[in-house]
Amino acid sequence: MIISDFFDLIYPNCCTGCNKILGRGEDSLCAECLLQLPLTGFEKEWLNPVSNELFGRVPLKEASAIFYFTQGGILQKMLHTLKYSGGSHIGAFLGKKAGKILAACGRYDKVDCIVPVPVNTRKEKLRGYNQAKVIAEGLLAHFNRPILENILIKPESGDSQTRKNRYERYENMLDGFSLSENIALLENKHILLVDDVVTTGATVERCAKELLKIANVSVSVVAIATPM
Ligand SMILES: [Zn+2]
Repeated sequence: MIISDFFDLIYPNCCTGCNKILGRGEDSLCAECLLQLPLTGFEKEWLNPVSNELFGRVPLKEASAIFYFTQGGILQKMLHTLKYSGGSHIGAFLGKKAGKILAACGRYDKVDCIVPVPVNTRKEKLRGYNQAKVIAEGLLAHFNRPILENILIKPESGDSQTRKNRYERYENMLDGFSLSENIALLENKHILLVDDVVTTGATVERCAKELLKIANVSVSVVAIATPM
């Protein structure tokens, strides 16, 4: 406690929304900014803008996003920090909030395990972490399920990509995910696919389609944010 107070004095934690120094018990956001995070409430309804976007493209049990994402809003700042400025604590914070909401709504109770959307290892190395995995780990505080991160594989997009022609690159982009060989343990399971943002749903669609190749699995999707 004393040591942590000492470090807080030297390196005060600031609110990601307004840069104000955070008070005791505040994490990532001050109380005022926390109140400004716009909740979607999508998780309460089977049919919502996110599930509607994916409807007919891939069969999902449930699909939702927890917060609205607005240009210049607090959540945009947080997601930017998470993605580009080494803010893994932001992912943990948002994941924790999302986990509490998922646990409370009851619609995701039958989920057996969590699969974060993978990023290619080059990006992960640059950033130091996969943001979807950090979010997934945050969920566990209230929504405790095993996280399986080596099920979906995102191939490297590097030199090999530039040597391909445009059509091959396009195809590769569409089929950008594959399953590992280690999938027997997922048979008959309900998988929750986790990502940071869902917009057109193209990424979660491709990931879910791969997961649905496993015998008798069902897939649900949750993202932290979707555009308003
Ligand atoms: Zn603030």
